Amino acid sequence: MAMVVTEPCFGCKYTDCVVVCPCDCFHEGKSILFIDPDPCIDCEACIPECPVAAIFHEDDVPEKWHDYIELNREMAPLCPQITEKKTPLAS
Ligand code: SF4
Ligand code: SF4
Repeated sequence: MAMVVTEPCFGCKYTDCVVVCPCDCFHEGKSILFIDPDPCIDCEACIPECPVAAIFHEDDVPEKWHDYIELNREMAPLCPQITEKKTPLAS
């Protein structure tokens, strides 16, 4: 199990989520972040940090965003890690 970044993340200008992650799970795509599910320890620290509620536990991802579960798993290893807050992501 792991957290999943979903559609509201597109174009985020804050990246507050990455700073609190103790396992450096976040990776930076072109305009959205991805969580690598393997190192994620389900601590849920990232969930309240996201101002647009883009992060869900894998079991709680809304139906319309289920594709993001696999997308995070596939894309995280292909994108550079991000561990510090940065502004802005390309939108
Ligand atoms: S805080 Fe993180 S997960 Fe939330 S929208 Fe911004 S980059 Fe995406
Ligand atoms: S649940 Fe914890 S370990 Fe997993 S991505 Fe969020 S902050 Fe990182």
